[in-house]
Amino acid sequence: MRIGAHVDPAAPLEEAASRGAEAVQFFLTDPQGYKTPKPRDDAAALRESEVDIYVHAPYIVNVASPNNRIRIPSRKLLMAHAKAAAELGAKGLIVHGGHVGKDADLATGFDNWRKAFEYAESDGGLPLPILIENTAGGDNACARRFDDLARLWEAVGSFGAGFCLDTCHAFAGGEDLVGIVDRVKAITGRIDLIHANDSKGGFDSGQDRHDNLGNGKIDPELIVAAIRAAGAPAVVETPGGSEGQTADISFLRERTGR
Ligand SMILES: [Zn+2]
Repeated sequence: MRIGAHVDPAAPLEEAASRGAEAVQFFLTDPQGYKTPKPRDDAAALRESEVDIYVHAPYIVNVASPNNRIRIPSRKLLMAHAKAAAELGAKGLIVHGGHVGKDADLATGFDNWRKAFEYAESDGGLPLPILIENTAGGDNACARRFDDLARLWEAVGSFGAGFCLDTCHAFAGGEDLVGIVDRVKAITGRIDLIHANDSKGGFDSGQDRHDNLGNGKIDPELIVAAIRAAGAPAVVETPGGSEGQTADISFLRERTGR
């Protein structure tokens, strides 16, 4: 099982080398924008690299939204990113679970997720696994509380959806990290990737603020235990650039024995 980092998209393989990372995750476009990804000059190098590649979809993608001016572009953008990520040989496209907003019914969000997968099937099918990530907050979020995650999985599980467990989001979202892998797997049957992050925000604070391992509010041994129990690759999305992330990766390697 491999350990890596979320890095700047300009030169992901160089960033991986500088951290001793066996996996990298990056954005293909501005995470706050609706731009369609362009072909990359380093596509062949990424495809042929020993480093495992993961792509993170833009944050603004919200396929659960009841607002069709957000939902429809999100659906299309997700598919465009899936195709572009597959061109790079990525192992998965990570996307946040999304939310429906204050006054809407979460059932709409789960149904919209189902429609997003149906759209993908009608558009040639997903060329790589979509890994839905749990979130720390969001008004009426689809994948913050695990009782909601269970309803989401009733909608998307049959499409082969994958799951990315973010330890910061789980903790800040109000899910106990003790025994978390078993609780997730009872719902999704799988954990494809761990986002191994400490949290600046407190338990159930709803704050999405990542910290370096051991610096925040989470007992780092619980993050190590989650990686071990999941048997999944882990990516740190922590601050401090190469130096901060190299230290986090070394810590995880030491503690997990990888
Ligand atoms: Zn994450």
